[in-house]
Amino acid sequence: MPQIQILDIATSNRIAAGEVVERPASIVKELIENSLDAGASAVSVEVREGGIDYLRVTDNGAGFPPEEVRIAFERHATSKLRSGDALDNIATLGFRGEALPSIAAVSRVELTTRRAGQESGVRLAIEGGSVKDLREAGCPEGTTMVVRDLFYNTPARKAFLKRASTEGGYVGDAVLQLSLARPDVSFRMILNGRTIFHTPGDNDLLKTITVLFGRDIASDLVPIQGTWDHSGLEGFVGLQDAARANRQREYFIVNGRFVRSPLLALAVEEAVRGGVAIGKYPFCVLTLRVPLDAVDVNVHPNKLEVRFRDEGQVRSNVISVVSQCLKPADVAVRVPLFPPEAEKPLQKDIQRVAMDWKTGGDPFRGMMATPRTTAAAEPGAMALPGALLPPRSAPAYNAQPPRAAVLPPGPHAPREIDVEIQEVAVRKIETAPQAEPVPMAIAQESRSLGTLFATYLLVESGDILYLIDQHAAHERLLYDQLKESLATGAGAQALLIPYAFDVTPRERARVIENLDHFSALGFRIEEFGPTSFRVETVPHILGDPQLRDFFIEFLDQLDSISSMRTADLKRDAIARIACHKAVKAGDRLSAQEIDALLGRVMQEDMPLTCPHGRPILLRMTRAEIEKRFRRTQ
Ligand code: ADP
Ligand code: MG
Repeated sequence: MPQIQILDIATSNRIAAGEVVERPASIVKELIENSLDAGASAVSVEVREGGIDYLRVTDNGAGFPPEEVRIAFERHATSKLRSGDALDNIATLGFRGEALPSIAAVSRVELTTRRAGQESGVRLAIEGGSVKDLREAGCPEGTTMVVRDLFYNTPARKAFLKRASTEGGYVGDAVLQLSLARPDVSFRMILNGRTIFHTPGDNDLLKTITVLFGRDIASDLVPIQGTWDHSGLEGFVGLQDAARANRQREYFIVNGRFVRSPLLALAVEEAVRGGVAIGKYPFCVLTLRVPLDAVDVNVHPNKLEVRFRDEGQVRSNVISVVSQCLKPADVAVRVPLFPPEAEKPLQKDIQRVAMDWKTGGDPFRGMMATPRTTAAAEPGAMALPGALLPPRSAPAYNAQPPRAAVLPPGPHAPREIDVEIQEVAVRKIETAPQAEPVPMAIAQESRSLGTLFATYLLVESGDILYLIDQHAAHERLLYDQLKESLATGAGAQALLIPYAFDVTPRERARVIENLDHFSALGFRIEEFGPTSFRVETVPHILGDPQLRDFFIEFLDQLDSISSMRTADLKRDAIARIACHKAVKAGDRLSAQEIDALLGRVMQEDMPLTCPHGRPILLRMTRAEIEKRFRRTQ
């Protein structure tokens, strides 16, 4: 490797300013990129307490020449770049000579390194930027960086860190992303003393995916491969069971660098349209290689953005490669309205996708949200202040199906019915669960007339006709019972066959954070190996819920749930998803169930919205009907 030199000021100023050290995950990313630049074929990452107290990156790369160990910690020392001219053709990952000094300034760093072929290595200890110790050391070839007590000398920055489990999840995700980008390198991720994954490093992407996401997903994938002038696309796409309700599992690698690219996301979604349900997104790991001058390298290495010189060309080639690789059966009802080439994604779509990732909790979202480079400030760049962005409601790429909402949407009145049906009540159950008693003194003399459209129960009660949405009502019923059993501490039932589900590192962290909320509801969940959990019991009241759907929806919503403040709200959100999943679409309720439902709905205290805030029942009085028939004035 070339010698480390101090960059001239002009060059270092051309490189985007900005702190690379935001959180443990960003440090780990910088250190791993250095390891990769040093030619490592194996990298191991260990974090304790989310990496705030301790993180370690060990590689088997080239090592530092002993005489350059010190200078590497000076600002703008790099072996990878000499003059500003080289900036446009950067193949290495880090190139600013800024990472090591920035990390050393806010932590206690210990570097142990031995150059290949050298007799011995060196060990350097730095605290808050100043060298404490430098000595010869016996060590294996390669480099180990240990970073302790992050931000010990800058408490204000430490305050911005999330709790250890969350930071640990971010680290795991960052390592996961790098593992996908480099299947030729073996990555081991150790969290609090346990190996959570260890990739083979034999350049087999599918094996890497299997290690990271489990066999279920890996067996469901379609290989993608195609080339066009000096460019190529390779990887895997998963539709059916691998599809998720957000974009967190769309992974893109451009010229070896993991990126979040709305352009690529929209292209792939276009190519698989019809192959995944509305509101779902494919799983994909796609590696794109393009000539170095076909992309603008964003010179902030922590940013996950990429800009293509010719976006339309990249888009249409990606669409055509992916759709050619999918068998017609994969994408059963693909009926494009326009030939894909003719369509360019609207800037709005692109911004919305970028926003999805931001709000979806990327480890580096803080950085994405604050444009720091000139590239990001240009029109069309992805980092925009949230307030400027359109609401997530445009049809084509609508992020969430309405049923996935955790909080009830604002009140809305279904007024399509031609008769003037008076809407009984639409209220937010959080704010006023027992508000305004509803006139429903009907319990005794009510009579079921049957089911309309297999959806609405018709009930005559005195002078009133009720239309009851049986699904909404059933959901409400289950939800209330679930909460009641929570209050009384009643009933979990053991599953005959415990249900296991796989998680990414970040999902794992979030499930662990929510374990007591789950158990309060009757879900006993246990860690089952490093990348999965096992559900041992479910709330009695749920009977046989669709656990797979429930946990997938839960995992996809972890971020919004985790941001809710009180424990009650969290439990509430989990309960909602659970009972929502317990009601099967298109159910025909049995006569008994209808009776039970009616009995319950007709009780005075029944809140008249389903847990998602939709109304449960509409009513029409005899007087209104007679008026419509002109029997009365
Ligand atoms: P940059 O990566 O931008 O050059 P860094 O501050 O990250 O700047 O690293 C400074 C220099 O230290 C690198 O250019 C490289 O020569 C050396 N270096 C850092 N990490 C390693 C490593 N794991 N193995 C070998 N050399 C390294
Ligand atoms: Mg670097």
